[in-house]
Amino acid sequence: MLGLMQDWPLLCHKIIDYAAAQHGSREIVSRSVEGPITRTTYAEIHMRSKKVAQALEADGFGLGDRVATLGWNTARHMEAWYGIMGVGGVYHTLNPRLFPEQIAWIMNHAEDKAIFTDLSFVPIVEAIADKVPSLRKIIVLTDDAHMPKESKLDLVSYESWIQGYDGDFAWKEFDENTACGMCYTSGTTGDPKGVLYSHRSNVLHALISAQPDALGMSSNETIMPVVPMFHANAWGIAHSAPMVGAKIVNPGGQMDGASIYELLDTEKVTFTAAVPTVWLMLLGYLEETGKMLPHLKRVVIGGSACPRAMTEKFQDVYGVDVVHAWGMTEMSPLGSLGSIKPVYQSLTGSEKLDLQEKQGYAPFGVEMKITDDENVEHPWDSKTFGRLKVRGPAVADAYYGGAGAEQFDDEKWFDTGDVAHINEHGYMQITDRAKDVIKSGGEWISTIDLENLAVGHPDIQEAAVIGIVHPKWDERPLLICICKEGKTPSKEEILAFMDGKIAKWWMPDDVAFVNEIPHTATGKIQKTELRKQFAEYVLPTA
Ligand code: ADP
Repeated sequence: MLGLMQDWPLLCHKIIDYAAAQHGSREIVSRSVEGPITRTTYAEIHMRSKKVAQALEADGFGLGDRVATLGWNTARHMEAWYGIMGVGGVYHTLNPRLFPEQIAWIMNHAEDKAIFTDLSFVPIVEAIADKVPSLRKIIVLTDDAHMPKESKLDLVSYESWIQGYDGDFAWKEFDENTACGMCYTSGTTGDPKGVLYSHRSNVLHALISAQPDALGMSSNETIMPVVPMFHANAWGIAHSAPMVGAKIVNPGGQMDGASIYELLDTEKVTFTAAVPTVWLMLLGYLEETGKMLPHLKRVVIGGSACPRAMTEKFQDVYGVDVVHAWGMTEMSPLGSLGSIKPVYQSLTGSEKLDLQEKQGYAPFGVEMKITDDENVEHPWDSKTFGRLKVRGPAVADAYYGGAGAEQFDDEKWFDTGDVAHINEHGYMQITDRAKDVIKSGGEWISTIDLENLAVGHPDIQEAAVIGIVHPKWDERPLLICICKEGKTPSKEEILAFMDGKIAKWWMPDDVAFVNEIPHTATGKIQKTELRKQFAEYVLPTA
């Protein structure tokens, strides 16, 4: 027997309809690519996204068409997304930090037919447009006055392109499982793989992530998604913020400490989210200037492990709660969040920080397990680590085009490629990427634990640990560090600091000091590159 309730399809454009109806005057503030801070509202964004839909339709784009976006977080970028989704198209976010050849490869794989690009990325589009035969429209997210004076391409400014339309457009109707968004994983091994979101998965992800114990969204919050829209949907904030009517503050392309601080302060941001590297810059700026964060209540940190020292500084010095989160492009992206359950509410000081070093627990809608290589499930005992597997309504079921099929099993469990343990209360802790974990004498050493510990040393700016071949133990850890400006700690001092805080056999065999640690386009330490750089390295213990 079927229920007698309405079959109200979960479609993303209903989110912006809702925001306009219930929170129409709520502001969206953006640091524009042209320079000035711009202000708009959900009502305006709604109206203009309908104009985008009209213009797309007039140009012959519709159901199933992939439309790329190459832009920072701005109101125009949001309008483009909702307009694309509203005609049944698929917004395809491109990461401008990738090499142009990689962007062209991804666009060809997705067969993008049109692109919205920020003014600052026009040179990238110029470099690759003739390598992407499917591309037939290039819209620059600016007005006529700021358009490049000359270009070998046929460009149109966003403002002039939508100008002739009145916004009187009925969103297209289709099944909620229709594709609406696309994002390629960075592909540190092999080619990038396309994740294809559906309207249903995005709406459910927004509902799930908005909950109080997840991102804690509300119309009373002012949210700054520093995490870019091209990095796994800005962790879903471009959907969840309008769903609750929160004010959004978009940082555009300026993520240095001073620029981020300026917006946090002038716009009285209450909640923000980004990867640790962004927060390193902000904390450095605050330390230099002695400024404080009186308005900010909560910061969500994820994308890579949040160092303990960072959590401590935010909480103890600036009075800002840290929520450590884990996720993946394949999970829309949120997989777990470190909100504090009742059993842990009484924790303080270093015990609380121990808990916050974990990546948190899965919200409703994410099932999680850890297994050995033979798929035998491990207990939740907070020590046995294994392969982390997940499933849920906002988790990928396959990659676009069928790549990586071995990561999905018959029961829909997706192998994340992360190695983790889970404690008795469901709190998961990532100990490594499966390909980064150090295998020493048949036992595993977590490089993330070692890195977190090393950056707790007051003279260390950033740390990375890789396995170096060892004649007796197969692999042993090498700690690679960047020191803070003007600091020159010795190897012995660093090791003495770590000694006693981890198992003896986890201690790095050596410490190397460098001026730079390579990062991926999404701000993660690029261990493949480090392994290449240190390929010939011989440990003193070898
Ligand atoms: P990209 O490689 O394009 O950045 P994702 O953002 O999807 O792709 O990266 C997901 C991966 O990032 C996870 O599988 C995990 O290895 C890592 N990651 C994300 N959040 C955390 C975290 N809080 N701690 C440790 N690793 C994390």
